[in-house]
Amino acid sequence: MWKFLFCFLFIRYGTGEKIIIIGAGSSGIAAASKLLSHNISDFRILEAEDRIGGRIHSIHLGSAYVDLGAQYVHGMKNNLAYELAHNFVIPGNELNYTWMYYNGKRRVDDNLLNTLWDLTPETYEDGGSNVSVGDAFLSRYNSTVFNQYKNDTQMLTFAKDFIRICECSILGLEGSFSWFKPIATSSFQDCDGPNTLSWNGLGYKTILDLLLKNFPNKTGYDITNNLSLNTTVTKIIMEENSVKVKCADDSEYNTEYVLWTPSLGVLKHDHKSIFQPKLSDERINAIENFGFDGVMKIVFEFPNNWWGEEKYFWFVWNEKDKDDVIKDVSFGPVKNGDHWLSWFFHVGSAPNNSNVLIGWMVGPMVAETEKLTEEQMKNGTVYVMRKFLSNDFNVSEPIRVIHSKWCTDPKFRGTYSFETMDMSIKNISSPQRILQQPVFSTDGVPRIFFGGEATSPTRYGTVDGAIETGYREGNRLASILKNQD
Ligand SMILES: Cc1cc2nc3c(=O)[nH]c(=O)nc-3n(C[C@H](O)[C@H](O)[C@H](O)COP(=O)(O)OP(=O)(O)OC[C@H]3O[C@@H](n4cnc5c(N)ncnc54)[C@H](O)[C@@H]3O)c2cc1C
Repeated sequence: MWKFLFCFLFIRYGTGEKIIIIGAGSSGIAAASKLLSHNISDFRILEAEDRIGGRIHSIHLGSAYVDLGAQYVHGMKNNLAYELAHNFVIPGNELNYTWMYYNGKRRVDDNLLNTLWDLTPETYEDGGSNVSVGDAFLSRYNSTVFNQYKNDTQMLTFAKDFIRICECSILGLEGSFSWFKPIATSSFQDCDGPNTLSWNGLGYKTILDLLLKNFPNKTGYDITNNLSLNTTVTKIIMEENSVKVKCADDSEYNTEYVLWTPSLGVLKHDHKSIFQPKLSDERINAIENFGFDGVMKIVFEFPNNWWGEEKYFWFVWNEKDKDDVIKDVSFGPVKNGDHWLSWFFHVGSAPNNSNVLIGWMVGPMVAETEKLTEEQMKNGTVYVMRKFLSNDFNVSEPIRVIHSKWCTDPKFRGTYSFETMDMSIKNISSPQRILQQPVFSTDGVPRIFFGGEATSPTRYGTVDGAIETGYREGNRLASILKNQD
């Protein structure tokens, strides 16, 4: 008896809402806004972090906001993020201000670069079915670039080293640790229009206010009373005609419907411990074979602007650079003879923020690299910037260097989903469609719903895809509730 009383004292029972939304990323917030637009406020959002936004994480650095997660609105047409953001985003200038450095701090000649870009496969999606992005790229590169320069030893060497830049760009796009994992022919659909529309210093977080109709004026929905931050869900138990949600802080919620929005990475790692009864084999198969690895962003605040006007620097590593860094920087991971810093390939201007640069690191060591301290990250990345740029620039010591930790953070466990070779081998054509199916209770009622970017069949991996799934599930729940009345 005392045990029962003891438990009763420490379990906090939830507030009895009809719907529990798990996760306050763009999908969860979009679902909440959709419910509110249907005049439904009988929901609670449980969020593990102490903030909303999830993989949208804008921090104030220098004179504006910079994004450690999502940064760009990708395209305009049929893009839900653009529909909300169109008055506040501007097209990026990356291609016009690209400066590439190679071999002993030499800036690569723009004409040569343009020739190489022209020869480099613009799309790798025509490599045929059942081919990885890496294989498709390399076979086209062989027949175009290598073929063109087969009698020019110097160019051939540069073209070989240039492959790493292409590999890094692709890994950045896909979010995978290896370019042999993503499949070349995917179901992702581009939206027409510029692909890098930026928030110009406002931060992608602005979209959360736009979703809640609170930008530019705070006159929209107030979700304060519907939101529990610092609340990590640990169990979702399907009962006969309801769902019980248990949290790490011992709070419990008995509810009619649950909307799950955390990342595919969280699902991969935690589905066995969270869902009771266990998820169907078909769903588990989809979870296991859909791809979710990661990239790292590094933001630098400098005491001065040493690069002048807008710039996007790319570092083309050659064999000597790779040997040097192994000798010169003794900390951090090394894998297959590659030093972690040789995957640091790009750093560029932060919009509307004169003393801030944003860098990218990709490849198989991202997760281990996340564990480095800020000081190690600063020393390593400044070494690289000085190595490549010091003929032309006086790279100063940054005031702050902050790197993202998406892969090692248990609330994310990676960055964005991608379609894999494994899906094709195992004949899973659309894991997104499998994942978005609700789970039914034994009385035949759909009770657990699934949103989040990985449930978008054609815009997975993006904010607009996440919003689409939030709207979809918000509408679905609204129509169920309306039919109950
Ligand atoms: C580095 C990086 C760069 C990106 N760049 C772009 C870009 O330029 N453009 C673009 O469109 N997209 C970009 N993306 C992708 C985009 O950020 C995501 O697709 C989108 O934000 C996902 O939203 P979501 O709501 O599906 O998931 P999330 O944002 O992950 O939200 C899920 C929420 O669930 C919470 N949660 C997790 N587990 C639990 C639990 N057990 N209990 C309670 N809460 C939990 C998490 O804390 C999180 O807040 C980028 C992502 C990253 C990481």
